[in-house]
Amino acid sequence: MDDGSRPLRFATRAVTAGRPPAAPDAPLNQPVVLASTYGSFGELEYGRYANPSWAAFEAALGELEGGTCVSFASGMAAVSAVLDLVPTGGTVVAPRHSYTGTVARLQELEARDAVRAAWVDITDTAAVIAAARGAALVWLESPTNPALELADVPAIVRGAHAAGALVAVDNTFATPLLQRPIEHGADLVVHSVTKYLAGHSDLLMGAVVATDPELVAKVTGARSLGGAVPSAFEAFLALRGLRTLPVRLERAQATAQRLVRRLEGHPGVTETRYPGFGAIVSIVLSDAAAADALVHGVRLWRAATSLGGVESSLERRRRWAGEAPTIPEGLVRLSVGLEDVDDLWEDLAAALPADS
Ligand SMILES: *Cc1c(COP(=O)(O)O)cnc(C)c1O
Repeated sequence: MDDGSRPLRFATRAVTAGRPPAAPDAPLNQPVVLASTYGSFGELEYGRYANPSWAAFEAALGELEGGTCVSFASGMAAVSAVLDLVPTGGTVVAPRHSYTGTVARLQELEARDAVRAAWVDITDTAAVIAAARGAALVWLESPTNPALELADVPAIVRGAHAAGALVAVDNTFATPLLQRPIEHGADLVVHSVTKYLAGHSDLLMGAVVATDPELVAKVTGARSLGGAVPSAFEAFLALRGLRTLPVRLERAQATAQRLVRRLEGHPGVTETRYPGFGAIVSIVLSDAAAADALVHGVRLWRAATSLGGVESSLERRRRWAGEAPTIPEGLVRLSVGLEDVDDLWEDLAAALPADS
């Protein structure tokens, strides 16, 4: 908002949210504040509780998602803080295809009887709602990583709430530009800020966004006592990245859509998975060897895990032991960046198998 009189549009708010009030000689953006301790009797007190550079990032992401944001040292710290809301022995409904770290964390909690996990196919809305009966939390990731399946978030939220379960959505792939789960009633939104929000492959950070003050207080407490706080410098960089989210993601999405059309017509590609929005594309080649040959054959695309940076990268997901066995051996996940679409296509086409 500028003067509160009319709602500003997303791209404008990405630039203005979390900005200090205008004043002569004041910096336009919140600078990095490096401090472990602050003068007593104020709002901040100690560096594990608060930091002005985190606060600026949190104000911006909170405004874009439609809630109150609590930032963390990494996406996994944010995931863990939300899973810690589940009472001991409570059930978590979770997608069988989701970020490998989330799956591993849930399996580890399950192994010591801290939670029970109910794995679901998130495209099967009725099955997800049935599993939510008696559950404490429904965890959604949509689109899923790397299968790129979509959940019907509004329908699942209605069903889960009727069953008394909280709903958390990992919104890392879509970002608030393309999907705002809180508008569909979700209780918690989780981000790996590391990916699109920061957007330059140079930092790790996470975030949780919620509207219920009690949930916000619990998540904030989990950060203060768990100690997984972000660094002031990384929060500063993440906010700098967030300012350009709409231009970066809109460009990467347009390039991804053009690449998808070419991949769909390529005889060497068995299957192209693309949910219709965003800049992650998964392609399936005939087998692991063909996929490895692609990853080693490209020159412009970088062989690297992670995603959401300005540079295009790719990886064969099953090279990770933790990846779900239902993900094909020949699946390569492409993270489309900001290079010229024809350069990206020519590089891919030169390394793709002639046929499958
Ligand atoms: C990367 C990722 C995470 C974990 O975030 P880190 O910042 O690596 O800790 C969680 N969820 C999804 C969907 C991710 O892609």
